[in-house]
Amino acid sequence: MRNLIQTVAGKIKKEELGLCAAHEHLSIDLSRIKNDPDTILDDEQGMVSELNHFHEAGGRSMIELTNNGMGRDVKRLKRLSEATNVHIVTCTGFYKDPFIPEFAQGWDQNQFAAHFIREITQGIEGTDIFPGVIGEVGTSVDEIKPVEKALILGAGKAALETGLPVSTHTSLGTLGSKQVDMFFGLGLPKEQIIIGHQDLNANKEEVLDVLQSGVYIGFDTIGKNNYRPDEDRLAFLMDFIERGLQKQILLSADLTRKSHWRKHGGPGYDLVLNKFIPAMKERGVSDDVITDLLVHNPANAFSIKEQ
Ligand SMILES: [Zn+2]
Repeated sequence: MRNLIQTVAGKIKKEELGLCAAHEHLSIDLSRIKNDPDTILDDEQGMVSELNHFHEAGGRSMIELTNNGMGRDVKRLKRLSEATNVHIVTCTGFYKDPFIPEFAQGWDQNQFAAHFIREITQGIEGTDIFPGVIGEVGTSVDEIKPVEKALILGAGKAALETGLPVSTHTSLGTLGSKQVDMFFGLGLPKEQIIIGHQDLNANKEEVLDVLQSGVYIGFDTIGKNNYRPDEDRLAFLMDFIERGLQKQILLSADLTRKSHWRKHGGPGYDLVLNKFIPAMKERGVSDDVITDLLVHNPANAFSIKEQ
């Protein structure tokens, strides 16, 4: 069981993962809540060409964190993986309030855990496709709603029982340490915890608190300059690397909109590899560190832990 990663096409050895985008969305529909058709990605042929750009840039794997309630479609992910030769890891989980599907509203932590464990052990929605991560499970801006507390604890319990990692959403990077505390309270090892969107938090002490707990963090909204300029992301990242924390950091762009796609004039899934990495190299970051960020860290973070 050790050192394997569950993809939509079966388990692979962690050495096979290659250059990885650690938090992305290929097939998604947030329009029920966001009321904006830009938040629907359903053009499958278009997804193939967007993924091909990623592959041409050296990308070999993608962690796809669209769960039930966000428009998850695992059969489509499997077709995309076959068409592009990109390893795709899908998830079990629910997002945050108000994206939790109706049938799961009001569940307690044990009901959430039981549902996630069922998908992990029996497959997703009657398919033979299994999740490789629990996520993205999230909290609101500076607030953990009761249902989100149950969700995070349920995700942590499922991770503890199955050995899968759990990957979170923090709103604008807030409450990362609170999420860590909830997982640690369950006894979940730091190696199974990925706290997302920490590049959106401009409070460096808060991000350092999360890092010092030993968990992984996502610098996973790269290119979203409307939330925070990449210059600021880069400045924090350089500082964390200088502090020797580069083994805990994962990179990605978290694209969710039609307008993010190359075909619609957006930056595309290759933006980390083609824009952000060159900017890091210009500032003198070594190839070894970049390989940690893009290859070794995701391979370690997403391999299934022994039970
Ligand atoms: Zn996301």
